[in-house]
Amino acid sequence: MPALSAALAALDDAGLRRRRRTVERIAPDSAAIRVDGRDCLDFCGNDYLGLAGDPRLAEAAGRAANASGVGARASHLVCGHQPEHAALEAELAAWTGRERTLVFSTGYQANLGLVTALAGRGTRVHEDRLNHASLIDAALLAGARLQRYAHADAVALERHLAARAGTAALVLTDGVFSMDGDVAPLPALAAACARHGALLAVDDAHGLGVLGASGRGTLEHFALGQTEVPALVGTFGKAFGTFGAFVAGPAPLIESLVQRARSYVYTTALPPPIVAATRTALALAAAEPWRRERALALAQRFRARAQAAGLRLVGSATPIQPVLIGAPDAAVNASAALLERGFFVAAIRPPTVPAGTSRLRVTLSALHREADVDALVMALADCGPQPMT
Ligand SMILES: *Cc1c(COP(=O)(O)O)cnc(C)c1O
Repeated sequence: MPALSAALAALDDAGLRRRRRTVERIAPDSAAIRVDGRDCLDFCGNDYLGLAGDPRLAEAAGRAANASGVGARASHLVCGHQPEHAALEAELAAWTGRERTLVFSTGYQANLGLVTALAGRGTRVHEDRLNHASLIDAALLAGARLQRYAHADAVALERHLAARAGTAALVLTDGVFSMDGDVAPLPALAAACARHGALLAVDDAHGLGVLGASGRGTLEHFALGQTEVPALVGTFGKAFGTFGAFVAGPAPLIESLVQRARSYVYTTALPPPIVAATRTALALAAAEPWRRERALALAQRFRARAQAAGLRLVGSATPIQPVLIGAPDAAVNASAALLERGFFVAAIRPPTVPAGTSRLRVTLSALHREADVDALVMALADCGPQPMT
């Protein structure tokens, strides 16, 4: 395998080789972790509401496992579709205010299934430049003509749509951008889609549970419904602290996914204990709004202190708060220096983000304390993300 070895060496030379760290939770419902034997605070997970380690989720999973076992035993269309799945789909339809929902095993698969069902070779798929990789891969898998528009730029999208009038068009965007934390300009995107007869799908993996007056995400934040945004994707591995995903939308769309989405049909259904935990997480997210409010308030606190310390932030009001560094090796060095001081913050490098925008992706959670955030900012200011040149 000399070609693979050479490619790996090239990654090393470019400062782009990724390494996994083994992360041990010290207590399930705390931000304290042990990384490579060192005790520190987790500032890079996506557990915004602090639900992943909540004992009530573990109890729900345990009850379901005792009742029906751990594995689903088959795909949904064979014999894996169980009462937990059906109940979660009904609850999600009510919660999102949509006709129907379909639970997928992962967000990656949900996006593959949705886009391949909606787009074929004749379809033009327009995507924000900073969309999640799964949305890009989905358009490529569909064999559609992919066109990327400038980040969060509804005017650029409209120009692309107008240039191809008459072609079937699908527009895909993250609701909250996963590596930047900013929010897509959904009202303007939806208006452009309406004017050009394009279908809009929003992947709100990082907005659901966090944004909106009752945590229903970016669409609630902007008061948009199924008419403006026919297809909504959500995931359970972020704010809800579990695993899995769903697509919500009009009944004919969802039924088409059941019939045709290969990433739905040809995979094992989610384990029922995970689904039971997700149902509990949905209920807790609704019943305990302080979680969302706390994560957002900590994000504001982080911003105010980080800006005062001269750190370079992105225009984000969500719990995702990147600190821009620039060069990949500088980001890795800053991440290592933070770990020495007891803060685990991941360095994010190309190809996950565009070249020249390597960053520390700080995330806030309801599990953090104000003092944790203040200490993180002091450590960031000390160890050094150097200003971008
Ligand atoms: C995490 C994420 C996904 C993938 O979800 P998984 O359930 O982890 O596969 C899809 N889209 C966005 C925007 C994400 O952040």
